[in-house]
Amino acid sequence: MSPSTNRQLFGEERMKREKVQTIIIGGGQAGLSVGYHLKRRGAEFLILEAHDRIGDSWRQRWDSLRLFTPAQFDALPGLPFPADRNAFPSKDQMADYLEAYARHFDLPVVTGARVDRLSKPGDHFLLSVGDEEFEAQHVVVAMADFQRPRLPEFAGQLGSGIVQLHSTEYKNPAQLADGDVLVVGVGNSGSELALEFVRAGHRTWLSGAPSGELPFRIDGTAARLFLRRLVFRVLFHRILTLETPMGRRAGPRMRSHAAPLIRTKLKDLAQAGVIRVPRTRGVRDGLPLLDDGQVLQVSNVVWCTGYERGFSWIDLPVFDERGMPMHRRGVAVAVPGLSFVGLQFLYAMSSSMVHGVERDADYIAERIVSASSSGTATRSRPQGSSTHPASTPASSDWELTA
Ligand SMILES: Cc1cc2nc3c(=O)[nH]c(=O)nc-3n(C[C@H](O)[C@H](O)[C@H](O)COP(=O)(O)OP(=O)(O)OC[C@H]3O[C@@H](n4cnc5c(N)ncnc54)[C@H](O)[C@@H]3O)c2cc1C
Repeated sequence: MSPSTNRQLFGEERMKREKVQTIIIGGGQAGLSVGYHLKRRGAEFLILEAHDRIGDSWRQRWDSLRLFTPAQFDALPGLPFPADRNAFPSKDQMADYLEAYARHFDLPVVTGARVDRLSKPGDHFLLSVGDEEFEAQHVVVAMADFQRPRLPEFAGQLGSGIVQLHSTEYKNPAQLADGDVLVVGVGNSGSELALEFVRAGHRTWLSGAPSGELPFRIDGTAARLFLRRLVFRVLFHRILTLETPMGRRAGPRMRSHAAPLIRTKLKDLAQAGVIRVPRTRGVRDGLPLLDDGQVLQVSNVVWCTGYERGFSWIDLPVFDERGMPMHRRGVAVAVPGLSFVGLQFLYAMSSSMVHGVERDADYIAERIVSASSSGTATRSRPQGSSTHPASTPASSDWELTA
């Protein structure tokens, strides 16, 4: 389906437009939060979302996924999550909430609009979406680092008889072949999926070392009473930030390692019968080879080895030698007008989480609006009279062009 065949603009029929003051790329929680904060400041903006429906990045995750954050920490600004505050929403409830959020605030989202290329040939950004182009003064790349599956290079050497899936492709146990499963990676995804496989009757091996675990039950009474708030809102949101020595020490590690286990405990895995094994370091005779020299005769390998940012479509000098965007609190260092929201530890441990993204979004929205009103922005001349009802331009210089 071409990007332009499945577009839906919340609030009105989509008009042809070329120049928009601010374009937000990504209509997940990060993009919608930026949209909320720009709208309340009266700025003009448009959100471009690659998927056909808002919330699809959640919908496409595996069937049994429940958030590890309870509903009280799953709301974006201005709209409570419609569930008991202690309930752990399903991924589809989260997806539906995001869709409802965009409708509730009448945010201008174009779905089915994947930005294929972002460049800045002159004063303005140029965004290619299929055969259409958008021009913008400010661009916010609003998405988590979890856009593409990351697999070790040796994955391709596994025998063709082995079913292999990355966690992004996994939906339910029906995808697995009979027999043993090796789960590679002991993050939250790997540990939850290992439990699911062993409960579905597969002998399950879990390979790797965890980055630690929360020292309490996330659904226990103490957690409900105060520990959850202490961890999510105090530790992750206030203490582990770029403003604190502790946060500055933790940041690089958080960006390059799996997060600590939040819901699953190592003892749950042991009790359920999941067999912990060392890291998977390669392939021998088509079978996975572990660090201790063991070769596992498994029928399935599920890679819970993390994600890539997948920013190859950003054609701007904004990445360091490791491919990480260079920014200060989300504001790109070398490309004026470009910002990021949603990245892991962008500002705090909570930056890529539902409850934490809002502060970063607010900060970026404020920067955009003050840059525009201080006149540092280069303004495009209005060429038409159409305005977008969902976004009142901060300045009449910023009309959408028809
Ligand atoms: C398995 C899993 C479980 C998680 N559970 C929790 C949890 O319980 N609680 C919590 O707080 N956090 C959780 N997170 C972390 C985080 O909340 C989610 O990853 C969330 O989806 C991040 O939202 P986002 O808007 O930053 O990015 P995304 O959800 O990735 O949204 C980005 C959007 O950008 C779009 N996009 C990408 N590229 C383009 C492009 N070139 N052009 C146009 N659009 C584009 C995508 O289609 C996508 O819709 C979890 C993450 C994972 C992976």
